[in-house]
Amino acid sequence: MSDQRRGPVERAGGIEQAGDIEQAWGAVVATARRTAADGLVVGTSGNVSARVGSTVLVTPSGVPYDRLRPEDAVGVDLEGNQILGELTPTSELPLHLAVYRNTAAAAVVHTHAVHATAVSTLVAEVPPVHYAAALLGGPVRVAAYARYGTDELATNMLAALRDRTGCLLGNHGTVTYGATLDEAYDRTAQLEWLCHLWLAASAVPGRSPALLTPDQLSDVREALKGYGQPGRGRP
Ligand code: 13P
Ligand code: ZN
Repeated sequence: MSDQRRGPVERAGGIEQAGDIEQAWGAVVATARRTAADGLVVGTSGNVSARVGSTVLVTPSGVPYDRLRPEDAVGVDLEGNQILGELTPTSELPLHLAVYRNTAAAAVVHTHAVHATAVSTLVAEVPPVHYAAALLGGPVRVAAYARYGTDELATNMLAALRDRTGCLLGNHGTVTYGATLDEAYDRTAQLEWLCHLWLAASAVPGRSPALLTPDQLSDVREALKGYGQPGRGRP
């Protein structure tokens, strides 16, 4: 372990213990590997981050996830200054930091999931063919295209994320966030599934899928507050 990571990391917003950072880095790497293992990205596409106090742990740019070791942790502050590690942070740092600065997110997942990316080239909003849209806060918007890694992409994403926990990036991929890495990941998987479903239903010649109404979706949003095991979170 490097000296940098042995003691508490002191920042204006508080003191993060090295143990918390280490544990969160392990979870970031595990989630990034899961995006590749589940086919949501190919190679070094996509990126994952988690916030621990005022430190944001991010996957490094262009490094295969199976090569990442405990000592490779990369951390930045909310202004994007690197405070941990040697590897260059993900090129999508502006996008991740924009989410943390504007929401209560503790984790962000970005992928190039194939069905979601296909849908991002076809519509401005994912047609609500299933109540899974309510898991992301309502019909999922598509952010206007901007080149990867730019502030413009982060700005377009924030507009698409209003009152939502996920969006598509036009001709690019997905972004979701959550209170935990598992929650952010689950939202990406649900979003990819929803896009796959719409593509399947809308591919039937001569037919177009029925859509849920705004009232039906807000009814689901209410019902989901009591979903699963009370007091134990979603299963
Ligand atoms: P990084 O390897 O820099 O994280 O970039 C991957 C990506 O998906 C850019 O949009
Ligand atoms: Zn990307």
